[in-house]
Amino acid sequence: MTGDMSITKKVAASLRVGNGKCPSGHSLMTDDHHFSGERAVVAQASIAGRKALIYINPFYGRHEYKCELALKEGDVVDLTCPTCGASLSIDIVCKLCNVPMFAVHLPDGGQVEACPTIGCQNHALKIVDLDAQLARMYVDETKVQM
Ligand SMILES: [Zn+2]
Ligand SMILES: [Zn+2]
Repeated sequence: MTGDMSITKKVAASLRVGNGKCPSGHSLMTDDHHFSGERAVVAQASIAGRKALIYINPFYGRHEYKCELALKEGDVVDLTCPTCGASLSIDIVCKLCNVPMFAVHLPDGGQVEACPTIGCQNHALKIVDLDAQLARMYVDETKVQM
């Protein structure tokens, strides 16, 4: 329904990863770099044997990062936890470029999934209690419209 779509967009625009973790529970948030004043998500990026930390904009839907590696469009970076080295990639394959996506785990059991291909805009958000939030907003919105 079109009503549902606009609500989803509104929610997504303001969502930020505030407490992202690796699969083993290490924090992926860093004070070393900020986007819009907020802590960046950090991961170890590697590509063709080169490695560096990558800082990712924590706001959902922003495809912005900072990395010392010279990355170009189409490069696929391998992302791991800077603390334990666990791979952040998941079984879900990006529908746009066919490589495994990576995930940042959220404290409520949800996760933010994104494509590790530079230039790919694929991003997905799975928040366990998002349905509840949307249901609440939908009720509010319906009231306003009526
Ligand atoms: Zn870890
Ligand atoms: Zn992709």
